[in-house]
Amino acid sequence: MTRPPSHLFYQGRDRKPVLDQARGVYMWDVDGRRYLDGSSGAMVCNIGHSNENVLEAMRRQMERSTFGYRLHFETEASEKLAAKTATLCPEGLNRVFFVSGGSEAVESAMKLARQYALAQGEGSRWKIISRAPSYHGCTLGALAITSYAPLTEPFAPMMQAMPKVPAPRAYLDGLDPEDEATGHHYADMLEAQILAEGPDSVLAFIVEPVGGASTGALVPPRGYMERVQEICRRYGVLLILDEVMTGAGRTGKFLASEHWDLEPDILVLSKGFAAGYVPLGAMVAHGRLVEAVLDAGGFAHGFTYAGNPLACAAGLAVIDEIERQDLVGNAARIGPLLQERLHGLLQRHAIIGDVRGMGLLTAFEFMADRETKAPLPARLNAHQRFVEIAYDKGLIVYSRRTRDGVEGDHVIVAPPLIVTERHLDEITDMLDASLTEFIAEIRPALNGAV
Ligand code: PLP
Repeated sequence: MTRPPSHLFYQGRDRKPVLDQARGVYMWDVDGRRYLDGSSGAMVCNIGHSNENVLEAMRRQMERSTFGYRLHFETEASEKLAAKTATLCPEGLNRVFFVSGGSEAVESAMKLARQYALAQGEGSRWKIISRAPSYHGCTLGALAITSYAPLTEPFAPMMQAMPKVPAPRAYLDGLDPEDEATGHHYADMLEAQILAEGPDSVLAFIVEPVGGASTGALVPPRGYMERVQEICRRYGVLLILDEVMTGAGRTGKFLASEHWDLEPDILVLSKGFAAGYVPLGAMVAHGRLVEAVLDAGGFAHGFTYAGNPLACAAGLAVIDEIERQDLVGNAARIGPLLQERLHGLLQRHAIIGDVRGMGLLTAFEFMADRETKAPLPARLNAHQRFVEIAYDKGLIVYSRRTRDGVEGDHVIVAPPLIVTERHLDEITDMLDASLTEFIAEIRPALNGAV
């Protein structure tokens, strides 16, 4: 059946099936086809789809009020969610600013950091160092600290260039991620960059504790995160943790930073924080920063929908479900089993060059040659093609280019945290069949090399 032309446009012209229903880890289109949501959308729907307790909490809030402008009213929902969020964050991170998504949360963190520096009489500090590759959002501020060429290059003249340091991709550099010397090697690049820029000009360092879309579940080498924190402290550089993807249980702790007992100055959340039920994000800042900014006249920043009571009621119910079902524990238990299955696929299919991840944020990377780490030819668009093949088999996974968005292909497997071993069987079978089909399709282009 031909469909009428769409008035919507996102990235491209291709059309997708129309979503009908979603329950738990499954989604159905209007033709009745079922999909297993193997990436929780874009690593969002951590508690699974259509959770009845969350829907009920949203209905209750809707009957009460759906909007109260933050300059006119406080709301019970936003107060409760802020208080709850503070209890889940490291000591001292007790002030919360709600937004509607990850990019807004990152923008808010950048601006709070800058206003804090001004309040401290350190107006010379404005540079935010980040990693290459990285993804922190699509708005121009967040994009300036992102490193992913296809998304950043068109807008380069419109952005303030910000310094970058290499992401700690030990597996590509032939270094042992279990060796502390490796972690220190990469962390020390941050120190070198701070010194090169002039420490008095550096405001903050922002980092995804476990890499997301741009690096494909990159786990930092041993000793890296602790050393990064130490270096930031030494030079008065604020540490901002971007936990938009890793937060809310995804890596087997509520926050990925708990794996290293980190104490950032600012932390940002979104995605799993409201699990796709509503647009919601949060910037959580150390009280010390917020008090200084408020004393100096206030935070010159805000969004109309910040602290929306319906969004906050949903967010609170999502956290309740995460705790009630011990989904953080489930991610910690099931994640290693998923990684084991991906390693099994690596044994069976030479095209998989690396498997990595933490908790239920896992990925595999395609390589033309495991020894040399050579990527597949970029023209094959392998990651996208693989996702299409899996989709046709009823499995949703998420993919991106690995090497600054230019070449290399990784596929992220990150099902909702409610996933069971039976679901893992289904995911593995569909991945296996998809890999077999994908390899048969690209083999001629590689002269039979895989
Ligand atoms: N930060 C990280 C680590 C992300 O993964 C994303 C989105 O993928 C963002 C920020 C931006 O979030 P949003 O797309 O909700 O604006």
